[in-house]
Amino acid sequence: MSERFDVIVVGGGHAGVEAAAVAARMGARTCLATHAFATVGEMSCNPAIGGLGKGHLVREIDAFDGLMARAADAAGIQFRILNRSKGPAVQGPRAQADRKLYRTAIQNMVRQQAGLTIREGEVADIIVDDGRAVGVVLGNGDRLLAPAIVLTTGTFLDGLIHIGDQRIPAGRMGEAPAVALSGRLYALGLDMGRLKTGTPPRLDGRTIDWSGLDIQEGDDPQVPFSFMTDRITVPQVACAITHTNAATHDVIRQNLSRSAMYSGQIEGIGPRYCPSVEDKIVRFPDRDAHQIFLEPEGLDDDTVYPNGISTSLPQDVQEMILKTIPGLERAKILRPGYAIEYDFVDPRALTSGLGLKALPGLFLAGQVNGTTGYEEAAAQGLIAGINAVRLADGEASPFVISRSEGYTGVMIDDLVTRGVSEPYRMFTSRAEYRLRLRADNADQRLTPTAIELGCVSADRAARFNARRSAIERTIAVLKDRTVTPDAARANGINLNRDGKRRSAFELLAFPDVSVSDLERVWPELGDLSTEIMAQVATDARYAVYIARQDADALALSQEEQTRIPFDFSYDGIPGLSNEMQEKLKARQPSSIAEARRIDGITPAAIMLIITALRREQRNSQVRRVSA
Ligand code: FAD
Repeated sequence: MSERFDVIVVGGGHAGVEAAAVAARMGARTCLATHAFATVGEMSCNPAIGGLGKGHLVREIDAFDGLMARAADAAGIQFRILNRSKGPAVQGPRAQADRKLYRTAIQNMVRQQAGLTIREGEVADIIVDDGRAVGVVLGNGDRLLAPAIVLTTGTFLDGLIHIGDQRIPAGRMGEAPAVALSGRLYALGLDMGRLKTGTPPRLDGRTIDWSGLDIQEGDDPQVPFSFMTDRITVPQVACAITHTNAATHDVIRQNLSRSAMYSGQIEGIGPRYCPSVEDKIVRFPDRDAHQIFLEPEGLDDDTVYPNGISTSLPQDVQEMILKTIPGLERAKILRPGYAIEYDFVDPRALTSGLGLKALPGLFLAGQVNGTTGYEEAAAQGLIAGINAVRLADGEASPFVISRSEGYTGVMIDDLVTRGVSEPYRMFTSRAEYRLRLRADNADQRLTPTAIELGCVSADRAARFNARRSAIERTIAVLKDRTVTPDAARANGINLNRDGKRRSAFELLAFPDVSVSDLERVWPELGDLSTEIMAQVATDARYAVYIARQDADALALSQEEQTRIPFDFSYDGIPGLSNEMQEKLKARQPSSIAEARRIDGITPAAIMLIITALRREQRNSQVRRVSA
């Protein structure tokens, strides 16, 4: 049997559902081909969405009317704004999710999406005709044909699970790996490699002694992820915190040779920022404790996710480890922790629209491109889905979000220009336009483009336009009201006595002037929407700094051609982390442009190098003059 579509998406994980849903929202006849509908929206590892940098990605996906933020709001059982004490640019919304509610929310949205057909089964082959990908073949021989195909196979390509010395071919625990497709991608001559990730054992919450543990509550009120959600209605739960200790570390050290990671059994490179517990003990021998968050996996589920002890040690050692940890001494393991190795494709094989350069018609998104995390996968899925529709529609150029427009743009640019040396995860430090790219303004930054592209529902477009008009009206009201320094001082706002009248909008840019200060001068401002006022205040406060940051970013790109001397030393550069130093020493870049292309080197690190180079230049001039 063969069927025709405009776009085919392979894999119903976090990348796949966003790709398929956006393609269908844009009007393409779309097919989502995945192993089993029941696993669509499955969270393979931690039951949480968002976090630092990742929360920004979720808001950006939402700005395009994607699924992830709405599903997180429907499933979130503990919401927290991380870094709340710091400025809005680096704050990250995070929600711990009820695993079942999350899956159900995603499955409902996929099921209800008009123009989206689901086909269950393994995709075993890609049909190539005249140098283009034109379809896929399912395990049962059925053919699905389309001018654009998005591959989002996650950890499934030749996936291999490790628990101690036990090896189980699988894409995730209990699910078969995609072996045939892996072979097909190798046969296409793509540059591919192996990566690994891991997950902790799942515990029976009824066997945990919660009594002596620190409890962590979520925020109240909760801040939703989606610009479409007014309020969270799911009941909220608390987490608990415990720690590893010297006894735990002894058990791990004594059994290190039985860890799949350290016995040489695993070849793939793991995520530096999400290390296994055995990695932590080896890499940080001086630390005498590591924190573990005990996160309930659901409202009507006793399973607990011990965040912080991902491991590939054998189950008997996992049990010994638990016995040493306060509160977990009698905890029963429901499923052992494990590591998984899988194939990924070097993302430098992709265009900035996520299409394969060597095989037009085939797009790749998600973990298959060397990233880790639901949010990173979903954001790529969104962009690949949009570009698959554009290709099917005969558009000549891909849609790209630039580095100054979104974290999604930063991530894709990093991937396709630098490649990956370890699983890539998002951090705010990767962005040079951090102050502009805030989680709170993702809709303002991106929804106008999303509306133009046709991937936003009429409902969202109407809501966005109403909010934007309210913001503009509020700014106009604030610009209309002016005050002299003396009148401001009379109301408790301390300004220089320079005689200059300033508008209420200008006053908001001062870090110590709050909305309630303004209301003392102009009580009628109290009638304006608190939410809109808060947004305008944040925009006003950042406007000055954004101009400065834009100038820095421009300076950075103008320094691209600056040469780095062969004998330049990265050792003494203040503020340059050991991790950055290691990478730079290993690669010895000969110019700033080359240093910028090294995976993991942040814009801030580049600025430090430029400053050090200038200092060295000045010093050698002084040496020459005095000689
Ligand atoms: P996935 O969510 O893996 O989805 C892939 C989908 O494709 C599945 O539905 C699968 O059935 C389908 N599929 C695959 N091949 C085929 C085929 N040939 N035919 C049909 N369907 C196919 N991320 C973190 O951020 N931190 C962590 O600590 C972390 N730990 C992890 C631990 C484990 C054990 C695993 C498995 C993953 C972990 N992750 C972690 C990664 C996170 O789960 C992924 O980043 C994310 O799920 C990737 O999304 P994706 O859409 O690319 O792929």
